[in-house]
Amino acid sequence: MLDGFLAESILGKGIAKQLLEVEVRDIRDWCTDKHRAADDRPFGGGAGMVMKPEPAIAAIEAVQTPGCRRIYLTPDGTPFSDSMAREFATESHLVFLSGHYEGIDQRIRDSVIDQEVSIGDYVLTNGTLPAAVIIDALARFIPGVLGDEKSLTHESFTGKLLDFPQYTRPAEFRGMSVPDVLTQGNHGEIEKWRTAQCVEKTRHVRPDLFKKYRHESDHQ
Ligand code: SAM
Repeated sequence: MLDGFLAESILGKGIAKQLLEVEVRDIRDWCTDKHRAADDRPFGGGAGMVMKPEPAIAAIEAVQTPGCRRIYLTPDGTPFSDSMAREFATESHLVFLSGHYEGIDQRIRDSVIDQEVSIGDYVLTNGTLPAAVIIDALARFIPGVLGDEKSLTHESFTGKLLDFPQYTRPAEFRGMSVPDVLTQGNHGEIEKWRTAQCVEKTRHVRPDLFKKYRHESDHQ
């Protein structure tokens, strides 16, 4: 699932430039029984299978390094955020555990996991895409990964508002024109227009963020 993702685009270039390194490991390599089973039926009954403690714990113990942060991807974890991505980008070694089936034996979480992270209030079949999402988001904060570091200063969530609408050439397309202010070269006016757009979009799309922004502006 990760081969193409890790080889392509901005992330692929960052890895090729050795700005970050990603190693994908298969937990089955730490299964010791003849069927290489990483899962078993849940104690107490119920649907589905649960990842067994022995292979997952052995895998984490084999790859962990002193001071690394061991993260389990799970829908009942702390919601992932822009600030978490920035913080993860400063770590020298992160270990992501991707669950499958109904999840993992609680003893794995209790003994070899430092932090539990969710990428949103929905349930995926496994934690591989959540790990990919987090790797992609944190990579943007590793110096040199983005061609233009200025991209980091004007994004949604960097300030307290969502991003403004972007336009590029042609100025006229199928009867739709670029707003005049963007083509007139008055940078003060462009800034004012962009800020107004950010405020309006945030108010409309994310009333929760807008409320926070208003509250913080009132107390500055
Ligand atoms: N029974 C679990 C629950 O209700 O919390 C869901 C298990 S899910 C089907 C299988 C695996 O997918 C999880 O162990 C986790 O690693 C991953 N996963 C699914 N949704 C996720 C999300 N929103 N964020 C992070 N990981 C997720």
